[in-house]
Amino acid sequence: MSAPTPLIAGNWKMNGVAASLAEAHAVAAGAGGAKGRVAICPPAPLVHRMAEVLEGSNVIVGAQDAHAEDSGAFTGDVSAEMLADAGAKLVILGHSERREGYQESDALVARKVLAALRWGLEPVVCVGETLAQRQAGEALAVVTGQVMGSLPGELKDQPFAVAYEPVWAIGTGLTPTTPQIEEMHRAIRATLSEMFGPQGEAVPILYGGSVKPSNAAEILHAADVGGALVGGASLKASDFLAIIAAL
Ligand code: PEP
Repeated sequence: MSAPTPLIAGNWKMNGVAASLAEAHAVAAGAGGAKGRVAICPPAPLVHRMAEVLEGSNVIVGAQDAHAEDSGAFTGDVSAEMLADAGAKLVILGHSERREGYQESDALVARKVLAALRWGLEPVVCVGETLAQRQAGEALAVVTGQVMGSLPGELKDQPFAVAYEPVWAIGTGLTPTTPQIEEMHRAIRATLSEMFGPQGEAVPILYGGSVKPSNAAEILHAADVGGALVGGASLKASDFLAIIAAL
């Protein structure tokens, strides 16, 4: 299996209105020479319009979550079919803000992955330990357990990515040391290889958590880091483009 193609994905979280599409337009204009794939994941109401803005560029549109079911009485939720229909190509699943805020379990995330696969969306599955778990020496066990529990066997031969996002590094300005990132990515890689054989070697393992222009090059060039999931710094085209250029 070849080395993973890196992916830089911007997670706008619950930020952005129509006027913000100008930032996506600027990213598309500046990301032509990216040494990897680039995605922006806006809030669901912007997915369709962003797909139009990014058409013809090498930046794809993603979503931030999808319901595990395809349709039904789930007020306020959005299905993978709807997101694909609106132009999304990938979907972030199991983000820690959803695991914490909506009590999403590994089993639910795995069902969401199956929904994404039914509609041709590439899942980007997030895993990561809390500060308490790291301090208790449980980080490796927690994260590899999340990988095993959140990735169903149906991902065999399907495109997907894993994002390692230590919960304590998201939106805090704190980042793990490079050896800490490399240790975790090695453990995730070993788990993926056990689960998926040679395919596991080609799955991009993104790092996420306070990636910004000033630390992107060091993080992106660490061993087994196959890109980044970028929150705050993806909202401004100039910052996001600087991170993309660090690939
Ligand atoms: C994220 O929410 O996935 C994230 C990594 O956020 P930030 O870059 O702002 O820490």
